[in-house]
Amino acid sequence: MKKIWIVVLAAAATAMVGCVDRAPEQKGVTSYTAPTAHPTVEVAQPAKGLRPKNIVFMIGDGMGLEQLSTAWVANRGALNIDQMPYVGLQRTYCLDWLVTDSAAAGTALATGQKTNKGMVATNPQGEELSSMMDLAQRAGKRTGVVVVCRLNDATPATFCCNNPDRDEAEEITADYLTCGVDYIAGGGMNYWRDERTDGRDIFAEIGAKGYNTYESAEKLMEAESLPVAAVLAPLELPSALSGERGDMFRNMTTKALDMLSRDNDEGFFLMVEGSCIDDWLHANRVDAAVEEILDFDRVVGDVLEWAEKDGQTLVVVTADHATGAMTLLWGDIEEGTVEVNFANEGHNGIMVPYFAYGAGAEKFDGTVENAQLSKMISDYIK
Ligand SMILES: [Zn+2]
Repeated sequence: MKKIWIVVLAAAATAMVGCVDRAPEQKGVTSYTAPTAHPTVEVAQPAKGLRPKNIVFMIGDGMGLEQLSTAWVANRGALNIDQMPYVGLQRTYCLDWLVTDSAAAGTALATGQKTNKGMVATNPQGEELSSMMDLAQRAGKRTGVVVVCRLNDATPATFCCNNPDRDEAEEITADYLTCGVDYIAGGGMNYWRDERTDGRDIFAEIGAKGYNTYESAEKLMEAESLPVAAVLAPLELPSALSGERGDMFRNMTTKALDMLSRDNDEGFFLMVEGSCIDDWLHANRVDAAVEEILDFDRVVGDVLEWAEKDGQTLVVVTADHATGAMTLLWGDIEEGTVEVNFANEGHNGIMVPYFAYGAGAEKFDGTVENAQLSKMISDYIK
């Protein structure tokens, strides 16, 4: 028992490292009433036995069962994720820690292999692992990544880059030059150009390689041809709670679906991350965390509607781990009010849910390792 506590505390301390430069000033908000509820979609499940042409893998960073339950109450008892009929649980621990960080968990989800904490798509020896982004490219599919955090942050990095150390932000960002991903959208311009210590301008370099580059969401909406690199903020995109994000996350994702699918017989693989749920849970801010989950859920609704219309798309939603050791203590479904307790400022070792909808979704059920969930998806890519 004692040993496990030491692991949990050390993990909490380490987990904060990645989020220090965006730690919100106000900490510890434990009750919240969402001002409005977003309407949820209704989608029909396609026939069983289809092999998906397109795959959208959506990750809510830090979004465990407790966080989803809380967001469900805040949205007056409805979420788009509820429309995904195939549900299971996955275990998030990594090779050297019971409580994972986003790098090790992302590596398991992206590559199908567990690794040590802090490692970005490498094995414990530091050797590079292929992600499902790489598999998709080898299979002739188009690929895309859409996040609301810095593109060098752990989760997107595990899909697009390789580095034994998640803190090598400049090296990881430079990896986007050779990742071959067709549609790249997120934040982190400080690491692409504005505050690099090596003087390189990765944003200009990727433009010189033939990417159409965008620095504003409005301009991105006018994009007509791939490949696209859109770096839309110095670090993270504006928070969902502030209202400044508006429909940015939804628009970035819808544009990805549109551009990746157009005149494309081979299909695509797209990873979408609700990245900042985790940051606000580290700060024990239920108000901001709930609004991040609700924004992510609106994107899930858009993706489900798109997938229903397409009929050949698999959508999988999961989390890399849960954060904040959060418990939903009380709430009012009609009012959208929640009251929670946070027992730490780090991650925890509780299983997280996964949800599947669309072509081939019936294959997803049971309690699995995070790496196994990855293999269940990549079996459809190869
Ligand atoms: Zn975290």
